[in-house]
Amino acid sequence: MRIGLINIGDELLAGKILNTNARDLALWLASLGHEFAFALTLPDDVGVLVNTLRRIDETSRIPAFPSTGASPMAGLDMLILSGGLGPTRDDLTREALARYLDTPLETHPQAAAWLQEFLARPYNPDDPQIQVPRGMIPLCNPSGTACGLHFAKDGCLLFAFPGVPREFRTLFDLHCRPLLERGGARLLRRSVTTFGLGETRQRELLAPLSIPIPFRFSSLPSESEVLISIEGFAEAGALEAQEIILDKTWRDLLSLLPEESIVDPGGGSLTETVFRLLRAQGATVTVAESCTGGAVGHLLTEVPGSSAVFREGYLTYSNEAKTKLLGVPETLLKEHGAVSEPVALAMARGARAAAGADYAIAVTGIAGPDGGSAEKPVGLVHIAVCGDSGAECARFLFTGNRETVRRRASRTAINALRLLILKDLQKQK
Ligand code: ATP
Ligand code: MG
Repeated sequence: MRIGLINIGDELLAGKILNTNARDLALWLASLGHEFAFALTLPDDVGVLVNTLRRIDETSRIPAFPSTGASPMAGLDMLILSGGLGPTRDDLTREALARYLDTPLETHPQAAAWLQEFLARPYNPDDPQIQVPRGMIPLCNPSGTACGLHFAKDGCLLFAFPGVPREFRTLFDLHCRPLLERGGARLLRRSVTTFGLGETRQRELLAPLSIPIPFRFSSLPSESEVLISIEGFAEAGALEAQEIILDKTWRDLLSLLPEESIVDPGGGSLTETVFRLLRAQGATVTVAESCTGGAVGHLLTEVPGSSAVFREGYLTYSNEAKTKLLGVPETLLKEHGAVSEPVALAMARGARAAAGADYAIAVTGIAGPDGGSAEKPVGLVHIAVCGDSGAECARFLFTGNRETVRRRASRTAINALRLLILKDLQKQK
């Protein structure tokens, strides 16, 4: 089915509230195998809602051909409205639906009975929540006072649900989910987590890839990682054939990406992947952190069960701490400064020895906003990793504010460890 959503509420447009109902619906529909055709957000305005419903009504009867660029409203099977069903002055959905259907609002005995039951006391006869546009069916809402509303028109099912997320979910589960669970297509998806692939570079690398209908490409950046996916809906009868097509496309895609940029071809996170690599070898890791202030340790201990690979770490912000806890020679600090390759390497080696760990990560840099110079600007970070096979260090110049520099530096440090472990594994082969 093709399903559309209209969210109603000034507070959504004013940015006072995040539209979690749209996100939730997207996830439910994806898991049920139905297409989320569009989501609109409208103000609390009867006229705007009535006119929008009329426009959708006109357009939704046009058949939808996915590749022709038809209106997203074309071929619509279900329209869900969220919000504006409560008893306050700004709740206007009921009135708008009555105007759209050109019918009067009437007190509905079933809606009145539900309200009385929910309140456990007599309701106010002026309460608008017992009013239903003539011809619409009230829908039970066990989680709140406002009932939902339903109507079918020209093969399109219309549902109006309260905006409160808990109630929106309850009404969807009770009244839409049973209809959608039957005969849905299945969403087929493959995802790969990549690290350090800029958008331009990714575009160039993947230019030769052809993606057959009904599959679509998506690239979702978060922090320094990018989750690349190919996904599409397959009808029950065509499932096997589409799986084969998707697998072929997926192999083509992976072959176009540089091997070191692939964190997990199954879409797992960077930290999960590093945890898995360490766990598989029975190896432990420690950290020596300066500018990241413990963020690397935080990431390493994010994964449940991380105590198997992480025992202790060192937060050595001052030069004295670097010497006292990690044995970094004072002369090295004087000669090169704390933010330097030799110090990063000495921190990593010192931490590894002090903790008796198999691997160590060290980070030293200038997160800003102060402390930069022409020679060592804000954003300069040295990241060292060491293990049995030796130590290596790389210099990075991160852009962004203090928070961004710290976040990027800590994720890049985890990735450096991943690359070192992979190198070690390659040598063992
Ligand atoms: P109520 O009976 O509570 O008034 P309603 O159907 O009138 O229900 P609204 O008044 O539109 O719903 O919204 C009620 C509350 O639900 C809002 O204050 C807001 O906190 C939340 N809400 C509304 N729409 C959304 C949405 N799309 N995503 C997340 N929260 C929402
Ligand atoms: Mg309301």
